[in-house]
Amino acid sequence: MPEATKSVWEQNAAPRHRIQWCPGCGDYGLLNAAKAALTTLELTPSEVLLVGGIGCSGQIRNYLNGNSFYGTHGGALAYALGAKMANPELTVLVMAGDGDTLAIGIENFVHICRRDPDVTLVIMNNGVYGLTKGQDSPSAGLGQPNWKPSEEHPPFIDPVEIALACGATFIAQSFSGDPKHASQMIVEGVRHRGFALVNDFSPCVTYNKFNTYDWFRAHVEAVPADHDPSSKDAARDLIQDFRRREKLPLGIIYRNPRAKPEAKRLPMWPQELEGADIEPLLERLR
Ligand code: SF4
Ligand code: MG
Repeated sequence: MPEATKSVWEQNAAPRHRIQWCPGCGDYGLLNAAKAALTTLELTPSEVLLVGGIGCSGQIRNYLNGNSFYGTHGGALAYALGAKMANPELTVLVMAGDGDTLAIGIENFVHICRRDPDVTLVIMNNGVYGLTKGQDSPSAGLGQPNWKPSEEHPPFIDPVEIALACGATFIAQSFSGDPKHASQMIVEGVRHRGFALVNDFSPCVTYNKFNTYDWFRAHVEAVPADHDPSSKDAARDLIQDFRRREKLPLGIIYRNPRAKPEAKRLPMWPQELEGADIEPLLERLR
């Protein structure tokens, strides 16, 4: 099974979709990390729905050899939640950019953290809108000493802090320059029974000339082995400690050990729709 699964995920869709990312883009690391994670999890394409965002990162859905979906900018998490509610057996993996998740899609991000469905989100975070030639995204300014919030550059958003504040039950961080570690974080996120965020630093080599691979290598640091990820207070302290030291933690920052039944967290299940007559509703919409 692992070998068969591996060969399925290794055959990416490149023959059908020529990879269009710039050479060296961090998204290649995440493509490899996602393939390795799905192989480790021994999932087959029919068991997985990959929901992509819009932008350079969103192309990943075309390069993975599985079932995928995308819609409007900012909507990825809403589509993912809907798919999970309709088919709870599905492994739903969302891979979307920082602009998609933290600007136009921030409402969906906040509320999926609160609802806590069994959905995994990987933010392919590079601090820019790469596809539209490098405008600042809400995560622009990471580590920049001269970054002064202004009308043009409002304060930086850290998705990890938002997720912790909004009730996400699994929060991890990774770096595309270390795809092996990134794949482990995706595996742990998918295995977690609840909403999982993996915030991945994925350098845009074309437009973000500050947060380069070298810059990240100088600033990332593993979460200490004695960190207790089951404690929210410890997670908050860890984030503050790393920020004070101008470092970026890589690893599992928070993992709520409780396993609340998903049926208590989501409002609707397929069985509730069994026998429902939706014709009148459809008629009204026609
Ligand atoms: Fe990657 Fe940036 Fe090129 Fe887009 S513009 S493919 S994010 S390097
Ligand atoms: Mg981006």
